[in-house]
This record gives sequence, C-alpha cells and structure tokens, in this order.
Amino acid sequence: MHLIRVPVDVPGAEYVVHVGEGALRHVGRIVPPPGPGRAAAVVADDTTAGLFGEQVIGALAEADWRPRLVAVRAGEASKTLETTAYLYERLAEGGIDRGSAVFALGGGVVGDLAGFAAATYLRGVAFVPLPTTLLAQVDSSVGGKVGVDLPRAKNLVGAFHQPTAVVADPATLRTLPKRQVAAGMAEVVKHAAIADAALFRELEERATDVLALDTALLTRIVAANCRIKASVVARDPLERGGLRAVLNYGHTIGHALERAAASWSLLHGEAVAVGMVAEARAAARLGLVGSEAGERLAALLAAFGLPLKVPRGGVDPNAAQAALAADKKIVSGGLTLPIVPGIGSVELRGDVPVAALAEELQRILA
Ligand code: NAD
Repeated sequence: MHLIRVPVDVPGAEYVVHVGEGALRHVGRIVPPPGPGRAAAVVADDTTAGLFGEQVIGALAEADWRPRLVAVRAGEASKTLETTAYLYERLAEGGIDRGSAVFALGGGVVGDLAGFAAATYLRGVAFVPLPTTLLAQVDSSVGGKVGVDLPRAKNLVGAFHQPTAVVADPATLRTLPKRQVAAGMAEVVKHAAIADAALFRELEERATDVLALDTALLTRIVAANCRIKASVVARDPLERGGLRAVLNYGHTIGHALERAAASWSLLHGEAVAVGMVAEARAAARLGLVGSEAGERLAALLAAFGLPLKVPRGGVDPNAAQAALAADKKIVSGGLTLPIVPGIGSVELRGDVPVAALAEELQRILA
C-alpha cells in the first residue's frame, strides 16, 4: 500500500498525517501500540461504526492493540458536554490509561468530540483521528482544535490537543453523500485559493474526476491540503500569531449565514462557499483586489455544485446582518479579513469596513 506522509511540525508535538487508499485496513501497523495489549477506544458515530468499525477494530487487534468500539449518534447534536461525559464513562470502563489512545473514526463531529474527551480525560491521552469525511480529511483532523458546542453557540468549549498521528483513507469517501463531498470541496478550494495556484488549476481542469471520486486524485488532493494546513498550523499552533486567521477566508460572512440559517440547513462548507465569493466581491469593490480571482473562485465552486447565493427564504436576512455585526473580530467598525489578491496567495487586511461586508451580504440575501 502506498502512503503519502505529511509531517505536521508543531514545535514539541510533531506528528504525521498518513494518506492512502486502504490505509484503514493497516491502521494498527501505521500507528503501533507503545506496548502489547494497550487499550484503545475507537469512537465512531452510528454510521461510521457500521461502515468501518469492524475493519478498524480488526486492524488494531492484529497489531496488538486491545480495541473497543464506542458509538455515538451521528450529527452535530452529539457534540455536547453530555456526550463527552458518556465517553468518559466508556473510557474508564475500557481501562484507558496514559499509554492508551483514543481513535476518532468519523467526520468533524466525531473528531472534535473524541478529541475533546482525549484532551481532558486523565489530563490528556493520545488522540488519533481516522477522518472519513472530505471535510475532516482536508481540514478538521489536522491542527489540534477539539471541542464541543453549548446550547447558546457552537464550539464554545474546547482545547488545543494535537493528534499523535492522523490516518486518512480516501477510499472511505465512496459512501459519503454527494452533498457532503461538495461541502468538503469548499475547504479544498479555499486552501488552493490562498496557497496553491497549481492545485487550483488542477481542480479547474479535473472537477469531473474529483466528483467521480477518482481515488488516486483524491489521495493527492487530500495530501496537498494537509500540507497547506500543516504549514499554517506549525507556524501558529495556538492561533496566537494571527497567521492561522488566513484559514478563515470566507468564514466571516460564512459564519453569519450559518448562524442565521433557520429553515435551510446550510452545511458549513456551503456557507463558506457563499462567504468566499461574497468576501472576494466586497474586496474587489473596495479596490483591494482585482475581480479575476473572485470570478475564478465562483466558477470553480459552482462546478462542484456549491451555492454562490443563499436561496430565497433560506436565511433570515435580519439575523444574518445581526450575526455579522456581532462578529468578535470587529474593532471600531472594521475587521481583519483574509483577502486573495491573486489565486494562490493571501494577505490579512486589518482595515476592512464591516459596512462593505454588510452591503455584500445584503446582495446575496436579496
Ligand atoms: P459530520 O462529522 O457530522 O459528518 C457528516 C455526516 O456524514 C454524518 O452523518 C456522518 O455519520 C456521515 N459520514 C461520515 N463519514 C462517512 C462516510 N465515509 N460515508 C458515509 N457517511 C459518512 O460532519 P463533518 O462535515 O465531517 O464535520 C463537521 C464538524 O466539523 C462541525 O462540528 C465543525 O464544527 C467541525 N469542524 C472542526 C474543525 C476543527 O479544526 N476542529 C474544522 C472544521 C469543522
């Protein structure tokens, strides 16, 4: 089996993302136990447990891990403190100690939840994401951000807890619903737009092959994305230097839309797609960038079936404007925004008037 190894050089917490078709079947050899008979908790949701649970438990047992599967209900509603408490009980029952590991078999929900349990149980045990959605393979499994939601807002409680390894198997994406694949592509397009002009061009030329889930192509795409995320995360692991903010391209308007999406359940990637195009157009109207990059971005997102506008009635316009006005980044009517002057490069501008974003938001909500 051919594995691409992407190192993530977080100082003092270096790890490798292993990407390859069939990698899940060999996960025990890729991530061996520190000693024979070490306990491993494999946290999955009820969908990923059914699809891949047996394979992963078998592969870990073969390599001398003592694995145990723990399933939670699929969906964002499981990313809570209550489910975390449920996991703590299962980890205690399974004899998880400081030489053990928590594996997260699933998408971003399972990764954030199991990662948070791993970060806090016994003040931290080893954490190994096995991402099975495109979003998780190209984005959420790398970087160590873990956490849960509170009733008042998403991701309010969390930690930075870097994995000890990540194992991404693009063959798992074959069962992923098409809408989820497209939502993951929004983050892929974002990474390419801010950091990799050649990847962006390849996506433009091979959108059909990507949508047909050509596994060899997806493997390279996943690895390229992990490399981009790793280079940002390694330089700003705790999001303190400001650099990691470049990964939030499209997310200012995207988050405002997500928070206001009542009747139309907008996936995160869909909100980011609409947000990137809107932010690119706002930056062009302000004369900060030309219009070419934004138009290429819009065409590519559309090729992946992503929305560029919010369908009528999908989002409450007043709630979206209120959510934008309440953005935590706003200081004196302006905010720091990543802008893309040309495909493959990104700058952080500290002086973007919120009014310009509000105007653009009005246009896409109309
Ligand atoms: P998800 O984990 O809910 O997965 C989406 C759905 O796909 C679920 O129903 C799941 O059961 C199903 N599924 C997963 N793998 C499958 C497969 N291979 N085949 C068929 N079905 C499969 O959603 P997501 O989009 O992966 O993640 C969203 C979450 O990620 C959000 O909670 C978000 O806050 C978080 N996130 C975290 C970070 C981070 O840096 N930690 C970054 C971005 C997003």
